[in-house]
Amino acid sequence: MLTSDARARALAAEPTGPAPGLRALRGGADGHGGGHADDDAPAAGPGAEFQAIVRRQLELLGEDPAREGLLRTPERVAKSLAWLTGGAAVDARSVVGDALFAEVHESMVMVRDIELYSLCEHHMLPFFGKAHIAYIPDGKIVGLSKLPRIVDVFARRLQVQERLTEQIADALGTILRPHGVGVVIEAQHLCMMMRGVEKQNSRTITSALRGTFRSDPKTREEFLSLARGQSGCR
Ligand code: ZN
Repeated sequence: MLTSDARARALAAEPTGPAPGLRALRGGADGHGGGHADDDAPAAGPGAEFQAIVRRQLELLGEDPAREGLLRTPERVAKSLAWLTGGAAVDARSVVGDALFAEVHESMVMVRDIELYSLCEHHMLPFFGKAHIAYIPDGKIVGLSKLPRIVDVFARRLQVQERLTEQIADALGTILRPHGVGVVIEAQHLCMMMRGVEKQNSRTITSALRGTFRSDPKTREEFLSLARGQSGCR
């Protein structure tokens, strides 16, 4: 659990933006090809430099980038990574839009088991799991479907789970100005499962608490026990 304000600020710092070449691919990226007529020719247009690097990466891995199965791999990887890191260019406030509503309700609102897929910035391998988000409104509530979209904004970039958790909490705090916010993420990291320590069943749990979720023990306990409940992440 992260409780120091200084650490929270450091964790919330935005990562450096992407190179323009890959950014140009974002928006239309579907991760499933597309294609140009001559796969052997150096790629032209958006992502060309990135594709050339992936092709070189394949060579360095001892592969033949000209063999059939790999011909369009550089293009697919470029599009896929553009999509998977596209959240870095999105402002969380823009996905909420006008889905903020005046409401006198001042009890805890919680959405559990929000599916989460992100990329670990140390290995560029996926980590995935569930986010549980709660807040106590102070005059404003947000459309519930917006919470998963806020998760996606911060998950779709090179991340560490700790910073992801803090960024979601901070975004909700800024957008909603609630009495308090709590975020718990439980995730499995392929960099741990497929390599290194090869611990297939370990889960990493992080939490970020703001406002009354931090200052009021009863609120914190209510939230954490709800977050610990029937999780789908097993
Ligand atoms: Zn990793």
